[in-house]
Amino acid sequence: MRIDIITIFPKMFEAVLGESIVKRARAKGKLDLCLHDLRDYTMDKHRKVDDRPFGGGSGMVLSAEPIFRAVEHIKSKVKSKKSKVILLCPQGKTFDQPMAKSLAKCRHLILICGHYEGVDERVRQRIVDVEVSIGDFVLTGGELPAMVVVDALARLLPGVLGDKNSLKFESFEGNLLEYPQYTRPAVFKRMTVPAILLSGNHNEIEAWRKKASLARTKARRPDLLRRNKSHGQNEAC
Ligand code: SAM
Repeated sequence: MRIDIITIFPKMFEAVLGESIVKRARAKGKLDLCLHDLRDYTMDKHRKVDDRPFGGGSGMVLSAEPIFRAVEHIKSKVKSKKSKVILLCPQGKTFDQPMAKSLAKCRHLILICGHYEGVDERVRQRIVDVEVSIGDFVLTGGELPAMVVVDALARLLPGVLGDKNSLKFESFEGNLLEYPQYTRPAVFKRMTVPAILLSGNHNEIEAWRKKASLARTKARRPDLLRRNKSHGQNEAC
């Protein structure tokens, strides 16, 4: 998979996308990440990417022209008919695990990070395929949301996680939350691990985990149990 990210703060990505699972995905050649400084796509000597909003009002708006130019440049290099352009935006569809799984099937994504008051509406109108929000709150820029999306996708790419089962039993798989996890020691501050987990009986452990998973989902996220199987599966390329 290739992901191109258009941003005015490319340095923000170095630490987060250069560590842990994303680093491993890149090192294994499963994920090709390319950062683009939006200022490199401006035509004026001041490398200006924003302007005041028509009609007045506070703040600045990212201009359409450099964003169009960046997307056209990336598309001309990648030449994939299935590139998907995503605008990170608080008004978009809420990012969740089904959407992550769907997007992880795409060969090429272009992520546009907004800033200030956002981007010129014509970017949405002409070049964006899907708008993605990471939740009902407003951040300063699209950089953190883009990192969230890349991290969630990277761990889903085949061959990135060592143990495939760690995805199979994770939260949101089958619309359930994961069961409680414990590690050594078996007794800590007088709190004990459920005896069944120490029994070595794999069938009983599996049954306990299923029950615990269902109970936890009912208590914390009953809405997940009402979701149908196709929830969020419509973002595929
Ligand atoms: N004026 C915009 C509004 O009211 O909808 C908010 C702009 S926000 C300050 C600047 C940029 O941060 C957005 O263009 C977007 O790229 C990003 N952003 C902020 N919150 C976000 C969220 N919850 N999910 C995704 N992107 C977000």
